[in-house]
Amino acid sequence: MPTELRLVKVAVPVPLRRLFDYQYNAQQTPVIGGRVLVPFGSQKLVGYVLGFTDQTEIATHKIKHISKVIDSQVLIDKELFGFITWSAQYYQHPIGEVFSACLPGLVTKGEPAELEAERFWEITAHGREAEPKSNAVKQNAILKLAQVHNGLITLETLKLNQFAPADLRSLLNKGWLKEAVKSLKEHYVKPSIKPSEIEPNKEQHQALAQIYTKKTSFQPFLLDGVTSSGKTEVYLRSIAQQVESDKQVLVLVPEIGLTPQTVERFKQRFNANIAMLHSGMTDKQRLNEWIKAKQGLTSIVIGTRSALFTPFKNLGLIVIDEEHDLSFKQQDGFRYSARDLALVRANNLNIPIIMGSATPSMESQYNVEAGRFERLTLARRAGNAKPPHSKIFDVRQRPLQEGISKPLKEHIESHLAKDQQCLIFLNRRGYAPSILCHDCGWLAECNRCDRNMTYHQQLKRLHCHHCDRQVFLPKQCPNCQSSELLPIGLGTERLQEVLTKLFPSKKVIRVDRDSTRRKNSMQTIVRQIKNGEADIIVGTQMLAKGHHFPNLTLVAVVDIDGCLFSADYRATERTAQLLTQVAGRAGRGDAKGEIVIQSHHPDHPLLLNLFTQNYQQLSEQMLAERKAANLPPYSAQVLIRAQANQLEKPMAFLSDMANILNQYSNLSVFGPYPAPMIKRAGKMRAQLLLQADDKKTIQKILNAALPIIEQQQSAKTVRWSIDVDPQEVF
Ligand code: ADP
Ligand code: ZN
Ligand code: ZN
Repeated sequence: MPTELRLVKVAVPVPLRRLFDYQYNAQQTPVIGGRVLVPFGSQKLVGYVLGFTDQTEIATHKIKHISKVIDSQVLIDKELFGFITWSAQYYQHPIGEVFSACLPGLVTKGEPAELEAERFWEITAHGREAEPKSNAVKQNAILKLAQVHNGLITLETLKLNQFAPADLRSLLNKGWLKEAVKSLKEHYVKPSIKPSEIEPNKEQHQALAQIYTKKTSFQPFLLDGVTSSGKTEVYLRSIAQQVESDKQVLVLVPEIGLTPQTVERFKQRFNANIAMLHSGMTDKQRLNEWIKAKQGLTSIVIGTRSALFTPFKNLGLIVIDEEHDLSFKQQDGFRYSARDLALVRANNLNIPIIMGSATPSMESQYNVEAGRFERLTLARRAGNAKPPHSKIFDVRQRPLQEGISKPLKEHIESHLAKDQQCLIFLNRRGYAPSILCHDCGWLAECNRCDRNMTYHQQLKRLHCHHCDRQVFLPKQCPNCQSSELLPIGLGTERLQEVLTKLFPSKKVIRVDRDSTRRKNSMQTIVRQIKNGEADIIVGTQMLAKGHHFPNLTLVAVVDIDGCLFSADYRATERTAQLLTQVAGRAGRGDAKGEIVIQSHHPDHPLLLNLFTQNYQQLSEQMLAERKAANLPPYSAQVLIRAQANQLEKPMAFLSDMANILNQYSNLSVFGPYPAPMIKRAGKMRAQLLLQADDKKTIQKILNAALPIIEQQQSAKTVRWSIDVDPQEVF
């Protein structure tokens, strides 16, 4: 008689859509929501226990034993655990990989999930009375810093203010500071709200009143407010209300490095523990923040999409700023939408969720129409700011001086003459989007992608923005040895050069991914702009988001024509959002703003509509078009991508898949077809698009068909992925 089998179901981080059974012994019982170390092939992996079972399809003697129970107590509570499991199922992604993607790095490596004691420095009685020499600038600054932080400086405070522990040495030697260690638990701050001078206006009042009525129940709000209408003020007051009743709040933002000002506003308003989750954190810091939130030591968590998977003790509200932003959708691996999932989590927790934008997504507008979201409108700019004035410059057959037309130049001049700042928008970084041989017509193409390579002058390099391949610019044409290699087209580097030539006495700065690569450089640039140390700002969409520059009055869009024509039906929505957001940077202070757009297609309906109507009217039109064409959000889509070294392989696999899926009469299958960009990073790519009337139908079909599809011989010859509710088609 064999001894009783003790079995657990474990999610192991491998690319397989299933759970694995393991045996355990009575001395070491795993817990649901805890981690175990398990043998997998020749490796040992950290897995997550999903449940116990007494049934298995595998012969008993083949079932391996757990190597080690890592957590003897629940690590991931039921709510977060259920949420992650649901997410894995909805996005049809292997569950073990989803757990790995959602948890802090150290947790996935099997490290103990414990708070470490934190090192910090405390000002001494001596230090409080000290009068450092006036030329000891650093010492003075650090002492002041300690005073404003209740006598304590943490490593984080130090770093945020651009000091290093080494800068403390002389203060420690003098006995003005002393080092101390405390458990982070003792750092808990009972949250309180600092007074604000801003009185909510009528629209803000109405919005807040609506939010207050749903303080403790699930309700999605779409805070639809034009740029600078005071959305952030509404968030802050809604958050205050939760924090006052000891609830935690999660704030999701598109890119934290780009919004230091927003974060600063939070810090100024609340005397509370605020966690900012950003990519510059160490693994240890990330784990600490994770645990602090879980234990309720943190009141407000601000982060990008992955912050959605933070555990909370007592979450009361979720806020999503710029809800339309594409960065809320993860575009590889576990391809989830943080905005869509945030709704699921808020619903599970029965709490309100506020999604704010000046340019709400079609999905959210549709949800308002369907009665699922409540729209709160802020139609006017807060304070004194007035809506900007707009113009389109027809540049057909007009001479352009390296991309700049005469009327544009004159407009820039007139704003500069009034000591105002101009933002020149171009969504293309680098010097020129390609290099051409004047003698033979050779073009610098990426040999791994179907695209040209961008010339970056500063680095003297050709860079493929699709696969990251970088090579030095050849001195001669590789085809005919001519040295007449010409940069073709306009990128931000070149635009900066052109504008510097046109306005030699003015300071022209550039804001793009290249110029802000170094840590804190974005903060420095933002400060420069605010302090008036820049006259002309050349920038990509990085600058379109959330910034508030009161002295910026002119926004010029140099080249938008490429965005007006695209095979992707979402392109119109994106362009409308981008232009509205960029335009929203103009005239946020007292002086009136102006927006000018250069175009070879001045009669394009999108451009015309954008300026004769508002975004709201435009989006009603776009929604009507989607409805007529039965496109999302009026239907549900799933995009299957496959790739291999030859195009035949993904095409063959996707045909097999299409054959299986064609059996379902309530599913439309389009393709397979080669991807819009067939070759990328050396791989040949193809796609299959699935569409059904609603998300449930498509889910049901995938659940039934995927096990069969995974068994196909052709599946083993390609890399493939599933993108549920895709946002991009390449
Ligand atoms: P949004 O988030 O919609 O872009 P913000 O909340 O950043 O707008 O507000 C834009 C500017 O208007 C900020 O400087 C803010 O301090 C100010 N502001 C917001 N609400 C009010 C108000 N009720 N009265 C005066 N100024 C306000
Ligand atoms: Zn040549
Ligand atoms: Zn490439």
